Amino acid sequence: MLKVGFIGWRGMVGSVLMERMQAEDDFHGFESFFFSTSQAGKPAPQLGLHEPLVQDATNINLLAQMDIIVSCQGGTYTQAYFGRLRKAGWKGYWIDAASTLRMEPDSVIVLDPVNRQVIEKALAKGIKEYIGGNCTVSLMLMALGGLFANDLIEWMTSMTYQAASGAGAQNMRELVAQMAAIGNGCAELLSQPSTAIAELDRRVSQIVTSRQFPIDRFGAPLAASLIPWIDRPMDTGQTREEWKGYVETNKILDRTDNPIPIDGLCVRIGAMRCHSQAFTIKLKKDVATKEIEQLLASHNRWVQVLPDEKEITLAKLSPAAVSGTLEVPIGRIRKLNMGPCYLTAFSVGDQLLWGAAEPLRRVLRIIRDYLEG
Ligand code: NAP
Repeated sequence: MLKVGFIGWRGMVGSVLMERMQAEDDFHGFESFFFSTSQAGKPAPQLGLHEPLVQDATNINLLAQMDIIVSCQGGTYTQAYFGRLRKAGWKGYWIDAASTLRMEPDSVIVLDPVNRQVIEKALAKGIKEYIGGNCTVSLMLMALGGLFANDLIEWMTSMTYQAASGAGAQNMRELVAQMAAIGNGCAELLSQPSTAIAELDRRVSQIVTSRQFPIDRFGAPLAASLIPWIDRPMDTGQTREEWKGYVETNKILDRTDNPIPIDGLCVRIGAMRCHSQAFTIKLKKDVATKEIEQLLASHNRWVQVLPDEKEITLAKLSPAAVSGTLEVPIGRIRKLNMGPCYLTAFSVGDQLLWGAAEPLRRVLRIIRDYLEG
């Protein structure tokens, strides 16, 4: 029976992966082994056929007994252990949420509703590394898959509105702590409907700029503000998050030799776990908006094309409405004033689901099916 090792199952992405695997009844037909860098020897989670105790994630000999390893542990771990495992002769399949191996020539970035054929080709070629994509890129491709599949995009921009969860669990806590600091500091003024709005506004400003305001993780206020910088700078002038939009999209689509120009600005906003994006798309030809909507809607069963109307936009096209679901709504679809080949649209998606855990869960199934013939 196949042995599957899970590393990073306690973390944010890992725990969403565990939830999704349980919901889809994935824990059968293989033996599960749960590894940890800090919890070895403790009871393992009660999921499917499993070793009763958590294993040591730093023990190469134990790891090397796995047929498939799924890591949601982070890039530092991948950097430290993946190479050592391969050097020790391990020939198993490595599935990873971290970006470390994404751009390696022998790895595939997985998003099967978009690149199932690329994954199948790679399996047949004996490729063993299957890596989840950047969350914003995966969510963009889930929303716009119909346009990419029909090769209708000449170039595009994605201007993002990214949630706190993309920066990690501690950042989500800090966002809520910032909100609480504002709420508590304004409670008295808020309770008096006669308070002048200028006074309330001044109080909020004082709170978010005060030395006590919790900004250790983000380095700046996010609640009642935003941060137009995500990740580290690149030589190109982009942030690394912006750079990924171009390189990862074209790698996922297997068109690095004929890449589609993609760029934009990535901005952190005060949402918890849903990323939003506004697109400007230069189409290769004038296609009617109705036809575009049909192409988008028929691409995969999670994309939800919404009419460009106020009520439905308010009800369905927001982080509040989408959080915790696999749906990827896309709305505000219309041609821009620049001409009939210029299209705009807005999309929202849960970045812990399609942006992180779901492509990994699905590729594990695909690899198992492949190995079991
Ligand atoms: P995380 O929540 O920080 O978890 C990583 C590890 O931290 C856990 O597996 C656990 O490992 C350890 N840990 C220490 N204290 C913990 C605690 N109190 N509760 C739970 N775990 C604790 O990391 P993550 O955000 O899931 O990210 C994992 C990887 O996925 C990263 O490479 C990230 O870049 C990538 N990714 C993240 C997102 C995202 O939205 N966050 C999206 C796509 C990809 P031990 O059991 O070994 O102690």
